Amino acid sequence: MAHTSKDLQDLQRLADRGRENRSHARTAPIIRWVGNKITAHVTGSGENVYRTRITLGQKRSYGCDCQDHRKQRGRKGPCKHVILVAREVLTLG
Ligand SMILES: [Zn+2]
Repeated sequence: MAHTSKDLQDLQRLADRGRENRSHARTAPIIRWVGNKITAHVTGSGENVYRTRITLGQKRSYGCDCQDHRKQRGRKGPCKHVILVAREVLTLG
């Protein structure tokens, strides 16, 4: 559990400020957490629902099927959906 918090906080540190700001406008995601994998469905602007995933631990990674992530492949840090999911999980504790 300690590692989980650290992983998620590291992810938040990577967050671009603009994306972090925009992540607050999203609606609460449905989160499923199995082992070290967190998957969530985040409702975007309009009717789009994005599948967002975060893997914790040694094979740390994150992904999302939104356009931002598909274009950038995380080069500019996590997309707003990943940022939101990380924050929600940290808040849930
Ligand atoms: Zn995304």
